[in-house]
Amino acid sequence: MRDVLVIGGGIVGTAIAERLARDGLSVVLAERGEIGRESSWAAAGLLTPVHPWNYPESLLALDAESLALWPDLAARVRADVGIDLELRATGLVMPLETDADVAEAERRVTWKRKHGEAAELLDAASAREAEPTLADDVCGALLLPDLAQVRNHRAAPGLAAAAARCGAEILDGTTVLGLIYQGGRVAGARTTAGDLLARQTVLAAGAWSGALLGDGVPPAIRTTPARGQILLLRTRPGELRHMVLGGDGAYLVPRPDGRVLAGSTVEYVGFDRHVTPAGIGKVASAVGRLTPSLATAQVESSWAGLRPDTPDHMPVLGHVEPGLIAATGHFRSGIMLAPVTAEIVRELVRGESSRDLAPFDPQRD
Ligand SMILES: Cc1cc2nc3c(=O)[nH]c(=O)nc-3n(C[C@H](O)[C@H](O)[C@H](O)COP(=O)(O)OP(=O)(O)OC[C@H]3O[C@@H](n4cnc5c(N)ncnc54)[C@H](O)[C@@H]3O)c2cc1C
Repeated sequence: MRDVLVIGGGIVGTAIAERLARDGLSVVLAERGEIGRESSWAAAGLLTPVHPWNYPESLLALDAESLALWPDLAARVRADVGIDLELRATGLVMPLETDADVAEAERRVTWKRKHGEAAELLDAASAREAEPTLADDVCGALLLPDLAQVRNHRAAPGLAAAAARCGAEILDGTTVLGLIYQGGRVAGARTTAGDLLARQTVLAAGAWSGALLGDGVPPAIRTTPARGQILLLRTRPGELRHMVLGGDGAYLVPRPDGRVLAGSTVEYVGFDRHVTPAGIGKVASAVGRLTPSLATAQVESSWAGLRPDTPDHMPVLGHVEPGLIAATGHFRSGIMLAPVTAEIVRELVRGESSRDLAPFDPQRD
């Protein structure tokens, strides 16, 4: 019997496997498809909530802790398996179009500084100087210089490889079919590769987590897929200098090789990850509005992924029942929150957690 079975090989499951295996526990991870090919691949890799001012303090505290853990995690993956997750503080600008936007940006500068983060209000000329791709008619911009991003599609494969180097068994192509109960507690799972027994099982199956538990699942874990569509553009490296975020939540994320990710929709259409003309059209029109000069850039590809949403949009972290820990429901922030999630699961497995996890409790209403 292993110490821990992790269900799901997205960024959350692989970060947990890496953290626990590094801690000396025996770990097996079951992933039904390829490692990290679902939401964790499809994401944009921003290490910030899109609108932090709308978040409860409990979640902001997790965000801050996770951001502080990211540099060490990226360094470990690079040192252990030679994969560069391209963790970079490219900063983010929010273009301002109206006097009302400017007034709102002033409030956000105050909010950010109160939370110990750098924030600057730029006038129109400084905004265009900082980010020349912005529209001519912007009346300013909010600059958040410290905000960072990662090349998220490399993260789960990198973490899985690092976990394997620490002794974890990574089973891709292995579907979990149901939980195994022994002595009134969860003792592992039935899978297409046979029974996998473990003292603790961690549910990290993203949008599929709720469905996997079947009937009687606590409301908080009734994960719903929230589709997001992304358009990938090819530009000159450095043409877009910062991440750009519009007031409606549309964003652009520049990679060092000149690729720019533009996203994203939030659609509740079930387990359907097709791209659609309506979705991509909406993203394309945001590109033209936010950064007009990129409206004629080459489109390289497009895709969609399914974010694991929950009824209150908060992650689910904690014991579901004896032997079963939930680590799911990260909605729009799973890339950012993966390191702290792994740390919380480590504490729960070790029985060392003294945190207040009530806001994330699987049993909450
Ligand atoms: C368009 C888009 C943009 C995003 N941008 C950002 C961003 O900028 N920053 C950010 O922090 N977050 C972002 N997110 C959200 C982020 O991608 C998710 O929160 C995160 O990837 C969730 O990770 P996960 O490991 O829980 O889920 P997933 O990556 O979906 O992994 C779950 C895994 O479980 C496996 N699985 C399911 N059922 C079973 C089973 N029965 N047996 C075995 N395996 C199973 C699946 O195959 C899958 O690989 C974005 C998401 C999308 C779609």
